[in-house]
Order: sequence, then structure tokens, then C-alpha cells
Amino acid sequence: MLGISTTLHSLIQQGKSDRSMQEILDGIFGMLQQLKQMQGSGASPRVMLLGIYSFVDKMMSEARDLQSVSCRKGCAFCCKMNVDVTPMEVMLIVEYAKRNGISIDKDYLQRQAALPKDQLAFTPGLSACVFLRPDNTCSIYPVRPLACRKYVVANPPERCNPEAYPKARLDVLIDVDIEILVSALDNLQLGKIDGLHKVLLDLLSPQS
Ligand code: SF4
Repeated sequence: MLGISTTLHSLIQQGKSDRSMQEILDGIFGMLQQLKQMQGSGASPRVMLLGIYSFVDKMMSEARDLQSVSCRKGCAFCCKMNVDVTPMEVMLIVEYAKRNGISIDKDYLQRQAALPKDQLAFTPGLSACVFLRPDNTCSIYPVRPLACRKYVVANPPERCNPEAYPKARLDVLIDVDIEILVSALDNLQLGKIDGLHKVLLDLLSPQS
């Protein structure tokens, strides 16, 4: 049974894709075949994920050239809300953090995990991602998750501030091909997809 990402699912439901459900499922199946071939040729999950990241970055940079993206370095409202990730993405982040001497504040993660995910964005003092630096840049940028790589908007940046504009309509740019890729990746991975703070906490907690 093939699953599809929540974003892709809502795109289809809203009729915002010019492709039929069958074409989309064929796209996911094709991506799955390619990913399985990479796996079969001995590529580790880490290498595969890095390959997918560079593929998504290329697609996003092409999309940026065609659209009026307003996201800029240092504008980090999107780093102050829940970010869903896969366990494989978090393993890569933890490995990168260890290699680069980046400490991860477990107490902070525990306080975040005590909140419902949809309340993170509205909780000052706990909304920021654990990897967001004081200057609003990302301390693990080269291995940031797919959700961070593919999220861009075309609205004025100040409207992304949920505290100031809790009901603002955001013009999020969504690329159907990237959503197909994300769906294919989700199908290949084991483990639960959840908020970065929760998956990180699970991975850092000693197993009983
Ligand atoms: S991982 Fe980096 S880009 Fe993603 S939310 Fe955290 S600070 Fe922002």
C-alpha cells in the first residue's frame, strides 16, 4: 500500500494539482523504484538522504527563479513552529551535531515536548527550534530536514509571525514533484514521523 505525504494529500483534495491521482501514484512508485535501486546498489540510508537533499535543493532553487519568494537569511518565523521529520533525518542531524561540537539542549526539548505540537508556534520562549541560533540562522543548516528545505513563501515576511498575525493567510509555494519525492521517501522509512523536538528526544533518550 502506497502512502502519500499530508501536504500532497491536501493538494489533491483541494484540486491544486494538474495531475490525476493515478499519475501522482505512478510518480511516487517511480521514485520508490529509483530509491530502491540506489539502496540495492549499496547506498546507505545516509548517502541516499543526502542525495535526496541535494535533489530537492536543486528543484527549490529552480522554483525560486520562477517565483517571487520572499524568504531571506535571518528571517526565521518558520523556525518557530513545529517541524515534522523522519527518524532517518534526525539520525543525520545528531551525527552532524556530534561531529561539529553542537550541543543539544535536552531540557528545552522536554519542555517543548510537553506542549501539543500545534501550540508550539504560539508559545513564546518555547517556539524556537533547538537549532536556531540567536542571530536567527540554523546551526545544522547543511543537514536541515526536508520540511525546512521545501518551505518557502511569497507573502511579506512579517505575515509569517504567528504571534502578530495568528490568522494570516500565507502564500506557501508548493512543488508537486518535491511532494511526490517526500511521499516516496516517507514510504521507504521505518519509524514514526513526528515533530523534530520529539523524534530528537526519543533518539537522545537511553533505551530501556
Ligand atoms: S532545523 Fe534549522 S531551518 Fe529547520 S527549523 Fe530548525 S533552525 Fe530552522
